[in-house]
Amino acid sequence: MNPKKKIPDSMPETGQPEAILKKIFGFESFRPLQKEIIGNILQKKHTLAIMPTGGGKSLCYQIPALIFDGLTIVVSPLISLMKDQVDQLTAYGVSAACLNSSLPPQDYREIMQRVRQNDIDLLYLAPETLLKDSILQLLSGLKVDCFAIDEAHCISEWGHDFRPEYRKLAEVKNKFDDAVCLALTATATPQVQEDIAGSLGLDDANTFVASFNRKNLYLDVVNKTAPLHQIINFLKHRKDESGIIYCFSRRQVDELTQDLEANGLSALPYHAGLGEAERVQNQDAFIRDEVNIIVATIAFGMGIDKPDVRFIIHHDMPKNIESYYQQIGRAGRDGLQSDCLFLFSYGDVGKIRYFINQKTDEEKAISNQHLEDLLGFVEARQCRRILLLNYFGEKFTEENCGMCDYCTGEIPDKENLTVPAQKFLSTVARTDQRFGFHHIKNILMGSKRKKILQLRHNQLSTYGIGNEFSSKQWKQLYRELMRQFVITKDADHGSIKLTPKALSILKGEKEITGIIDEEERADPVKATKSDIESLDYDQQLFGLLKECRMELARKDDVPPYVIFADTTLIEMAYYLPQSEKNLLKTHGVGSAKNQKYGGAFLEVIIDYCTQNNLQEKSKTQKRSMPKPPISRSKRHHQTGDEFNSGKSIPEIAALFGVKESTVIGHITKYIKEGHAVRKEGIRELSSLNDDNYKKVENAFQEIGVELLRPVYDAFDEQISYNELRIVQLYMMAEEQA
Ligand code: ADP
Ligand code: MG
Repeated sequence: MNPKKKIPDSMPETGQPEAILKKIFGFESFRPLQKEIIGNILQKKHTLAIMPTGGGKSLCYQIPALIFDGLTIVVSPLISLMKDQVDQLTAYGVSAACLNSSLPPQDYREIMQRVRQNDIDLLYLAPETLLKDSILQLLSGLKVDCFAIDEAHCISEWGHDFRPEYRKLAEVKNKFDDAVCLALTATATPQVQEDIAGSLGLDDANTFVASFNRKNLYLDVVNKTAPLHQIINFLKHRKDESGIIYCFSRRQVDELTQDLEANGLSALPYHAGLGEAERVQNQDAFIRDEVNIIVATIAFGMGIDKPDVRFIIHHDMPKNIESYYQQIGRAGRDGLQSDCLFLFSYGDVGKIRYFINQKTDEEKAISNQHLEDLLGFVEARQCRRILLLNYFGEKFTEENCGMCDYCTGEIPDKENLTVPAQKFLSTVARTDQRFGFHHIKNILMGSKRKKILQLRHNQLSTYGIGNEFSSKQWKQLYRELMRQFVITKDADHGSIKLTPKALSILKGEKEITGIIDEEERADPVKATKSDIESLDYDQQLFGLLKECRMELARKDDVPPYVIFADTTLIEMAYYLPQSEKNLLKTHGVGSAKNQKYGGAFLEVIIDYCTQNNLQEKSKTQKRSMPKPPISRSKRHHQTGDEFNSGKSIPEIAALFGVKESTVIGHITKYIKEGHAVRKEGIRELSSLNDDNYKKVENAFQEIGVELLRPVYDAFDEQISYNELRIVQLYMMAEEQA
């Protein structure tokens, strides 16, 4: 028997986890809980690891596998994922292989032989392969030190991806007495966690749950007004970046793919209606960077571990918060900033309701709840992370995440809604809390429906007094009232019930604020500069390095990220390392990769630097990954300061990559906090003629300069919010002066 060749020669013999992390993988530090989990595994304590997608679960068994004498078995449900991991490990110089039904018999036998000879550290197996007699026999003669079950939620019938073969793993696990068991999943629901632990006999003491906050994802929800235009606009700033666009239906996928093509953007479709061969081909093209954009239904995503997906667009509503989280989770596994854009429309909500209504009563209740939760998330006027993480039972307490549309100040300030709320609530009270939203709204809007006339609700004092809002706006108010627990909905009848809070509002003791159909934010915000952009690296060199990577990837028949991640190339294009020693300091360059690929990249860098007369920069410390962008609270101060220093509003808008109206909103907020600003450069922005300008000014004087909506209404919605904001700002600036 061959002596087992452990870690490559350059490895220190102690085999400490940190040393392996640096030497083999080229990473500077562990991600949260990796170290603890690895420590636990090395002590042979069974472990349940729950970490979000991109949390770095694989290293939790890969590093112990390099320290243990015996074999590590990894059970993984998807052949494509197994193959990908084995490719990556091989590139790192780690001895790994996979066995599954798709292998030609020759390869299969060869791998079996290598396993027998103790020449493999990590063996990936599909569950059905593991359950085969021949494999069990092979393994029973070997020392197995670790039994890792990846995607362990597949064991649970509660999970979204139940696989019956996974149920049998508990039995198999018991055959390996000496092996420590590690179950890993990104599914956060307690039910699934309990199920995993229960079926595998893992006790609570060894459960590790990481935070589900994916800090590097920028979350943005905008109104879907002209989706194609909005998407093209968004993509303009993201040339050469990989991303996924999720659609509701196959037809939508096909249409959007064609539309993008027609606009000169190359994209490939993915949905269950395509043939198997085409699906595999399209997925491969995406993984190998041959196409940047995949337009897909929810069918896409499970089988890919691509670390450099830079954006996720939801062209349509996801099914629920959980699937939204899962889908956006596919972005930014490498830790770099990635943007998630959700195009939201009430029209889509209507479509979903239609589908829900086709379901059985029981399913209906669940789906409706999911929809309500999702709407709560979309409409919330608070940090997106609060509701998202709350859904998974995690409290998010940071005051400002700096990475969502709310915290970066893209969502306008709230307005006082007390008066319309009083109208609504008093209608509920006058009809004895026996009716649902539609009936109440119909009363307020003076509908002549039969039901209203029969019940004589046209004689109520609130009949027809609600014409300041459209149906859609009343619906928004209704949701706001629900969200703030002013009202609740009777689960059985759908009738609206008042809470004590409602009574205080009716009595005028309490005010309520919110936003009703504010000026629509149709253009997707260009998220604050991504980390990639903010590190001032050489773009041209980066392009050359990518070409070099593509060439090597084609030669080795692996996805480009297996060679080096984008993060690695970016650092190369910044620090310009020109010796092996310095190349090894680069993020993601371990000893094996350095040996295999380092030379090719060094050549590119040296050539480029010679031609352009550039010097190497020293890298003493490895750079920590994403820097959060300017936070919301600081942003409006910055805006105000920039304005006072003489920059014009359009200049500031360009500087921060936001709309002028956002800048105006920020300056208004700055004044409201008591700062003074210069008057010059505000009035000029108005396109109203003198006459109209005067009228608006008078209206503000009469109604008060604080609120926009009453003035908007006073002009029968004929003057845009944008114009009103300009007048408002100018008047406030004058008052302060
Ligand atoms: P998960 O299985 O939890 O979704 P992966 O194990 O696929 O996550 O890891 C996601 C990405 O993060 C991979 O590209 C991996 O190389 C990288 N990664 C994991 N741990 C670290 C670390 N400590 N430092 C830097 N990168 C890491
Ligand atoms: Mg994984």
